[in-house]
Amino acid sequence: MILLDGKKTSNDIKQEIAEKVAELKKHGKKTPHLAAVIVGSNGASVTYVNAKVKACEKVGFDSTLIQLPADVSEVELLKKIDALNNDDNIDGFIVQLPLPKHINEHKITLAINPAKDVDGFHPENLGRMVLDLPGFLPATPYGIVQLLDRYEIETSGKNCVVIGRSHIVGSPMSILMARNTKVGNCTVTLTHSRTKNLEEITRKADIIIVALGKTEFLTGDMVKEGVVVVDVGITRVEDASKKSGFRLLGDVNFEEVSKKASHITPVPGGVGPMTIASLLMNTLQAVDLK
Ligand code: NAD
Repeated sequence: MILLDGKKTSNDIKQEIAEKVAELKKHGKKTPHLAAVIVGSNGASVTYVNAKVKACEKVGFDSTLIQLPADVSEVELLKKIDALNNDDNIDGFIVQLPLPKHINEHKITLAINPAKDVDGFHPENLGRMVLDLPGFLPATPYGIVQLLDRYEIETSGKNCVVIGRSHIVGSPMSILMARNTKVGNCTVTLTHSRTKNLEEITRKADIIIVALGKTEFLTGDMVKEGVVVVDVGITRVEDASKKSGFRLLGDVNFEEVSKKASHITPVPGGVGPMTIASLLMNTLQAVDLK
């Protein structure tokens, strides 16, 4: 079994980006600048945003963290987005999800200038992805494609099963794996909460991408020998033995599935760091778009 090491791969990508940024600076070009907007103080969201800002610093990007109170109005948030859209110094920005219930996430996503939408959630970028046009790919699926590419996983002609149809992971992932590209050309089955006999489908899969947010959902008896497994799930579970008071669990029963898998991502240290690496790649691309 080979571990698909997202931490190491994302560090390799960060190193490559840092070299490109140093080159830009050497030639007097603008330093890429990513802004992150966070509303409220949800523990997991704060951790993710801080990790993104730290990653910017590591590669030499400029970064701006905009923290808004949990009760900020939708109008105020839209004003902030408008300001970022019109700020030439900002190349790309993200609004960390989820947002508080009184704010309409679709409205916020639609307000972001597609040319600065480095999370790749805007309908224009999702449409570009479907049409094979250049644009920003959604950060988590893009990170998974990068990971499979760098580990030279053969995907052409393989059966790929995606579990979960969210707009940010499962659905775009299913499209990317079916595209006529190096990582792609799979026969894809997108499964969800209404899928019947899921284990019959997963047992036929060569590649399984699991993104449903249910801890240790994919078990050893649901997969065949030699399967490639990508675990997107991140759930905090209480653990008094940890300093933080919690540990992170994925959607895959690692202990069981790793015994049969040819390749598998760990949690933590798999997809999470790759999502951040993709965000940095998209931000670098945003500079070129200007
Ligand atoms: P979501 O919560 O928006 O949607 C879950 C999906 O799972 C739904 O489409 C639902 O139909 C499907 N589902 C639920 N029960 C199912 C079942 N029994 N069988 C098959 N499908 C079922 O999902 P999300 O936002 O994609 O998040 C999924 C997980 O991935 C969460 O743990 C989240 O924290 C994690 N996540 C991680 C990263 C990362 O960078 N590693 C990024 C995004 C999300």
